[in-house]
Amino acid sequence: MQIPFSPPRIDQKTIDAVVDTLKSGWITTGPKTKLFEKQLAQYTGAPTVLCLNSATAGLELALRWFGVGKGDEVILPAYTYSATANVVLHCGATPVFVDVNKDDFNISIAEIAQYISAKTKVIMAVDFAGLPCDYSNINSLVNNDDVKSLFKPSSKNQKKLDRILVLSDAAHSIGGTYKGKRVGALADISVISFHAVKNLTTAEGGAMCFNLPEPFDNQEIYQALSVKALHGQNKDALAKTKPGSWKYDIIEPGYKYNMTDIAAAIGLVELERYDNDMLVKRKEICEFYNKYLLEYSWAQLPILENDIKDSSYHLYALRIREITEQQRDQIIALISEAGVAVNVHFIPVPMMSYYRSIGFDIADYPFAYDNYSREISLPVYYDLSLEQARYVCETVTEAVEKVLNKVEA
Ligand SMILES: *Cc1c(COP(=O)(O)O)cnc(C)c1O
Repeated sequence: MQIPFSPPRIDQKTIDAVVDTLKSGWITTGPKTKLFEKQLAQYTGAPTVLCLNSATAGLELALRWFGVGKGDEVILPAYTYSATANVVLHCGATPVFVDVNKDDFNISIAEIAQYISAKTKVIMAVDFAGLPCDYSNINSLVNNDDVKSLFKPSSKNQKKLDRILVLSDAAHSIGGTYKGKRVGALADISVISFHAVKNLTTAEGGAMCFNLPEPFDNQEIYQALSVKALHGQNKDALAKTKPGSWKYDIIEPGYKYNMTDIAAAIGLVELERYDNDMLVKRKEICEFYNKYLLEYSWAQLPILENDIKDSSYHLYALRIREITEQQRDQIIALISEAGVAVNVHFIPVPMMSYYRSIGFDIADYPFAYDNYSREISLPVYYDLSLEQARYVCETVTEAVEKVLNKVEA
């Protein structure tokens, strides 16, 4: 049996939607993208949503909109994909990595509190594997009087918010819930990814969910960022095609981050069947893994839900107890030989060559390293049958026991 890691769900419905768009006479940002934005706002509960060509673009736009630059610090977990950190560097600001929780891989609130300084402008929280961070605690922290009194606003939007911005890297977590609210409505700005391997895909794409408090107007922010995401042009391509509407202005040196209607057409199909079909299937697979692996003492099962939160079941992040990084790699090699594709999420950012070259050291993030060194992500995707999931479990079990027994022998 050959089992891939996470192929996209593409069927006739997706293909028809793309073909319809190709034949419609409008293929870049237009009616499909606008409709997708409205439906995403409805689904997430965020007041407004802006679609873009990636989540990375959304994270960077959020930092730029808030006026983050040289001398500013952005707090983020060491345990994330490098995009979360790269955008901080693009803005000329300093990433301040903090360690993660031992149990759920998410950013440690206690660590955040320790690293807040007068330079901190943004906290980027990553909902690892789809499990929302503890947003009540993060939101209380940034609204705490002592923390607020440290904040030194240096841009119009920083003055208006008058505290640290909570920016959620929700690349994994669309559909996840926390205290009865959906991801998108939990932080000031949340950024979802529609990359090909993510839960809901448009091949490439992302969305910013705006949920800023008074006196901000989330509709106004949506307008401002639509302009920022399209050259700083005060009219989009669709508005310009109306006869007589040729004139436009550039009001700032903007970016080129817009989503195409071809991508949005895929997204609309995906969203329509996301809750009742995709999420149900993913949950079933993850719960099957949990149930099968529960009886093995070497298996440390991931948290999929608790009293206040529920995952989007993006990744099934298994950890093997008391093994080294080398043993983990041996286990993965055996699993791969049996035809099952697994992955590791993530190699912590401070371990990457570039980040090491600018002075970061994984030794400063012991939980991130421990989680990484023992982690194996099992396949989770729509077309994976429970029979295949059983084969994955058998393969993993055999590989782990082989490597563990070698040590004992
Ligand atoms: C995938 C991912 C991103 C980047 O998403 P893109 O849409 O590819 O830009 C950012 N952060 C995390 C945690 C991710 O997994």
